[in-house]
Amino acid sequence: MSEAPAPEMSAPDPAAAESGGAGAPDPALFDKVVNLCKRRGFVFPSAEIYGGFRSTYDYGPVGVLLLRNVKDAWWRSMVQLRHDVVGLDAAILSPPAVWEASGHLKNFTDPLVDCRVCRERFRLDKLDDPEVCPNCGAKQSFTEARQFNLMFKTFAGPVEGAGADVYLRPETAQGMFTNFKNVLETSRKRPPFGIAQVGKSFRNEITPGNFVFRTREFEQMEMEYFVPPAESARWYEYWCAERMNWYLDHGMPSDKLRLRAHDTDELSHYSSATSDVEFLFPWGWDELEGIANRGDYDLRQHQQHSGERLEYFDQAAGERYLPHVIEPAAGATRTAMAFLMAAYDEEEVAREGQGKGEVRTVLRLHPRIAPYKVAVLPLSKKPELQAPATEVLGLLQPHLMCDYDETQAIGRRYRRQDELGTPFCVTVDFDTLDDRAVTVRDRDSMAQDRVPIDALLDHLRARLDT
Ligand code: ATP
Repeated sequence: MSEAPAPEMSAPDPAAAESGGAGAPDPALFDKVVNLCKRRGFVFPSAEIYGGFRSTYDYGPVGVLLLRNVKDAWWRSMVQLRHDVVGLDAAILSPPAVWEASGHLKNFTDPLVDCRVCRERFRLDKLDDPEVCPNCGAKQSFTEARQFNLMFKTFAGPVEGAGADVYLRPETAQGMFTNFKNVLETSRKRPPFGIAQVGKSFRNEITPGNFVFRTREFEQMEMEYFVPPAESARWYEYWCAERMNWYLDHGMPSDKLRLRAHDTDELSHYSSATSDVEFLFPWGWDELEGIANRGDYDLRQHQQHSGERLEYFDQAAGERYLPHVIEPAAGATRTAMAFLMAAYDEEEVAREGQGKGEVRTVLRLHPRIAPYKVAVLPLSKKPELQAPATEVLGLLQPHLMCDYDETQAIGRRYRRQDELGTPFCVTVDFDTLDDRAVTVRDRDSMAQDRVPIDALLDHLRARLDT
């Protein structure tokens, strides 16, 4: 496949999106967020000094915190705050047998078409108009669609060839199915219960694009919830509601989020119901997460192919069954991008002593998602402020992720923290030397409060509500 050099910071690709529904997408937002990501150290194109590599991205000093917070927030609500879900960290490399059983080797394909005029390649099911090439405008120039397998294949050990083939996982889910018996035997969990995993997945996407929305290496947050067959419809409804609430609870505006049930012709053959959590991206509504009722397909396939019995014996009821599975499968990297887009705001604010006139950019991120919770800012670099500033930093650091910045005018440092989404700035000034108090500045209202150093941690924790 021919790849354009480093076009990743370009405008959104409408061909990569589903057509929009209600609401108003904002195409200009895309460039603003992508530029901010580069300027402030959220996301860099991979191998940029070598001209970039279209299908992967690197998360910079601030982006790594954001992404970690998204994953931690998911883990907190899916594992930590529940008694019926346990965690797992399965291997990324696995033998072909796993993928034969799961159906990925045969069916994990996308329909690929080439434009005979410009030679670009596209995923047929993501084209707005399957008759017109979105790159060169040629009509009916596409080749017959062929099924392109998205699995990345490599080999294990020093000798290439038969028996050495392995695959990079294209989803984390299979690790939960192949470990179902291990978890059942060791965790004392009984259906209904879940296994959750966060980690990298790899897909040889035909058209990566729209920044980190679709990449060939990405992170997923998936949970397989094993239930008695008769309860699957009820649990499917439960998880659809839970997952929508998770996004809303973490600051996604309700008018930018929707749950879209798949039509019957969209469903995989084993799924009796699937819904997507969709976000209103700058190019329209598109998927953040899929929630599927997968029946007993996965466990049945692995039972058949491995020869291991994967049934659960319910002693109370005296019955043996293969649990059915409800799967909420979300993308961590894609969700981090959606949080940035939802949080991005510009507002006109007063410049000191000059009335209105300055536009400030602010990321109104939920405190749990924000990279830094607090920035400690000594008013100046004067040595006498360094001791109290270091003391304040030392007081907060064990509990909250902090930034520390002592250069530039204080106003510019506030603007920088606004662009990072830092909920609070703590300024140490010359009065601090007398009153042992600091100024706490709120990101959203820009209001400032004087708070004694001894009460600072409790004050911030109460307001952060983390
Ligand atoms: P699509 O139809 O967009 O290719 P999918 O329906 O195949 O996605 P799933 O297999 O359900 O996606 O994966 C679960 C989640 O993983 C998606 O909702 C998305 O958030 C994330 N995801 C999938 N593929 C990618 C990718 N190439 N880049 C980034 N995130 C991805």
